[in-house]
Order: sequence, then C-alpha cells, then structure tokens
Amino acid sequence: MKHRIVVLGAGYTGASAAGRLARRLRREDVAITLVNAEPDFVERIRNHQLATGQDLKPRPLSEIFAGTGVELRLAKVTRVDVDRKTVALTGANGAEELGYDTLVYALGSGWNSQGVPGTAEHAHQIAGRTGALRLRERLAGLDAGQTVVVVGGGLTGVEASTELAEARPDLDVALAVSGGLGDWISPKGREHLRKVFGKLGITAYEHTTVSGVAAGHVTTADGKVIPAAVTVWTAGFAVHPIAQATSLEVSGTGQIVVDRTMRSVSHPDVYAVGDAAMAMGAGDKPLRMSCASGIPAAALAADAIAARLTGRKVPDKTIGYFNQCISLGRKEGLIQYVTADDRARQGVLTGRPAAAYKELICKGAAWSVANPTLGMPTRKHRVTPERTLRQDTV
Ligand SMILES: Cc1cc2nc3c(=O)[nH]c(=O)nc-3n(C[C@H](O)[C@H](O)[C@H](O)COP(=O)(O)OP(=O)(O)OC[C@H]3O[C@@H](n4cnc5c(N)ncnc54)[C@H](O)[C@@H]3O)c2cc1C
Repeated sequence: MKHRIVVLGAGYTGASAAGRLARRLRREDVAITLVNAEPDFVERIRNHQLATGQDLKPRPLSEIFAGTGVELRLAKVTRVDVDRKTVALTGANGAEELGYDTLVYALGSGWNSQGVPGTAEHAHQIAGRTGALRLRERLAGLDAGQTVVVVGGGLTGVEASTELAEARPDLDVALAVSGGLGDWISPKGREHLRKVFGKLGITAYEHTTVSGVAAGHVTTADGKVIPAAVTVWTAGFAVHPIAQATSLEVSGTGQIVVDRTMRSVSHPDVYAVGDAAMAMGAGDKPLRMSCASGIPAAALAADAIAARLTGRKVPDKTIGYFNQCISLGRKEGLIQYVTADDRARQGVLTGRPAAAYKELICKGAAWSVANPTLGMPTRKHRVTPERTLRQDTV
C-alpha cells in the first residue's frame, strides 16, 4: 500500500510542497494528490497588475504537474475531517471523499473585510483572481477624474495604489492608511515612498480609519466622507473557515497552529503551510502571510515529511526574512532590507533597480512553482513501512 499524501491548495505553497515531495519520495512508495479549485496556478502577488489591465501568463496546473508523479484533482475542498482522515470535495464528478495518510493544508487566504459595514456590497478586493478581474472591469469603465480609494496601508495597499496611479494617471487615486504612510519601514524607505506618491499624484489619507463603505464614498471613524467611485479594500487577509471547523488546533485567526516543521501541534499527520498556518519564525514571531516565508515553509514541510517517512534526520530550521520587496508601479520599487524577524534595517534599494529586482522575485516565485521538480537535488530514499504507520513517533 502506498502512503497517501494529499496536498490541499495549489497556490505558491501547496504547489511547491507537492513538487518537492515528488522530488524527495519514490513513486513506488507514495501517492501524492494535489487538490485545487482553479485549473490555473494564480500568481496572486501580481493581482494588482491583473486588476490594472495587465495580462498574466496562463499557467495551467495540468501542464505544470504533467509527468511529475503528482496527481492533480480539480475540485473544491468543502470539509476536512482530521479524525477520519478524509477530505470532502466537490468537482466535475460531484461530491466525493478522499482519504489521506498525511495531509498538507495550503488553502491560503482571502480578503478580510474586518466586518466594516458596506464592504461586502460596495468594496472591491484583489486577494483572489476573481476579485482582481472584477475590479479590472470596473476600472475600465471609469471616466477621467473619478476617484479610487484604496483602503489599507500595508504592502498590498501600497502596491495596488501605485500600480493603479501609474496605469491610470487620469484617475484620482487615494490611499487611506490607519497609521502613517509606510510607518513600518525605514526613514529612507518612507521618504522614497512619499516621493513616489507625490510623483504619481496619490493622495495619502494618513491616520484615517475607514469605518464604512457606500456607493460613491467611504466614511471614516472621525466622521469624514471621502468620495470614492471605486473602493479597493486591502486591509489584511483572512483564512478560509475550513480548518476552524475541524478538531485541529487553530489560532484566533483560524490558522492551523504548527511547530517548527510545519506540523500541526494537535494532529501529527497534518501539516499546514502558507497563509493558512500559524508558524513561528525568527525571534519567535509569527510568520506573516507572504510568499517570502510561505515558500520556504513549504520546502521545510516537504523535507520534514520526507525525512519522517524515510527515517532520516528531520530538518531543524528557523525561517527568517531578508527583505521586503515592494513594487511601486512598473517603473519604481522599494526593497526594504529587514532583520530575520522582519524589522526594517536602515538600507533600502529604490528606483528602477528595485523595480527590476521585484520583477525578478515575482518571476522566480512563479518559475519555482511552474517547474516543481527541476533544479533540486534528487534524494529518493525508501519509505520505511513502520514510519508510515507511526509518524507521531519522530
Ligand atoms: C496583490 C497581492 C500582492 C502580494 N504581494 C506579495 C509580495 O510581494 N510578496 C509576498 O511575499 N507576498 C505577497 N502577497 C501575499 C501572497 O500572495 C500570499 O501570502 C501567498 O499567495 C500565500 O500562498 P498560499 O499558498 O498560502 O496561498 P495561495 O497562493 O492563495 O494559494 C491557495 C490555493 O488554494 C486554492 N483554494 C483555496 N480554497 C480552496 C478550496 N476550498 N478548495 C480547493 N482549492 C482552494 C486557491 O485556488 C489557491 O490556488 C501578495 C498578495 C496579494 C493579494
């Protein structure tokens, strides 16, 4: 009997984990199934580009995983039962159930409306491809001079507002930030951000908490009304509720709590990676929802699973950060160097070199997903039968 590994989600982390598992383990020993709702790999970190009219290269998962030994299943995960070790799916064949011996949960996240009134009806979002395409259509219908308000001053809000202002200089673009603009980055980084905002004509509403979204405007906690033909909501991500509905230990945010090998602290045959996981990184700080930490976490999880199944040494690594790569449109960028626990250092890279660097990072991330079994040393050890039964012993 082959050991059944089921990977849920073929985003940056699930696809990376599935590919690496296929590289590490022998086809005779394991059956790897990758489940994803959409047929294409979505380059989520380019959703702001998609929304502003740029066309992205299609990346069908069936082509990516052809010949790798990973079986792709296009279906929506509706439920996970970690006690019965089954996953419920709905796909072209209707409802079905998939059993597993080891589960890798990588369903990512969606937008987080924070429960602000009017967001569901009136706000656009770019956390997923569908949302980005809907916004693209809406933006295409806007006339010159109309206002777009992006809400949320994190990386996604900064990237979205600058991309939009560069692509549509005829629009009036604003960013509403609950703190100061770029207040998490270094003084040099902030200065550059302000310069680019100035050049692109973006209005920054700082220390402004948006408390309501309506057709044509947003309202703020201190009673202001800001006109907005379109509101783009980027104030954080929220995980899908599937994990929370299981007996897995989850955090207050609904993320699966995992140890340093990305293994669930409550269920040793379940691993979680990417946005769906609550994992500690350098300095014992939770890893933020990002590819920057999610992709290394996926590699770590795959290596840990392979090591446990083959009786090898389990990797002992701490995931840390090196930089935050922020696109500011296609011609400008900001690379903020950070400590391993993600605090801004003094150094930054700006301008065209930063834009080129960020582009390289995006291409590299997509390349690693699109070539799941290339470029890695093959180490295919035999699965030890007793390990498959007693994973919890290592
Ligand atoms: C506009 C934007 C810009 C970003 N920029 C950066 C950046 O520059 N750097 C960075 O590090 N991070 C960035 N991020 C964050 C980054 O995209 C996420 O952290 C990353 O995608 C998480 O990877 P993941 O594999 O956990 O989830 P995802 O990449 O979201 O993949 C989840 C997968 O699961 C599938 N799925 C979800 N639910 C189901 C279901 N019920 N059934 C079946 N399949 C399902 C989805 O279709 C998807 O394929 C950005 C995000 C956005 C939105």
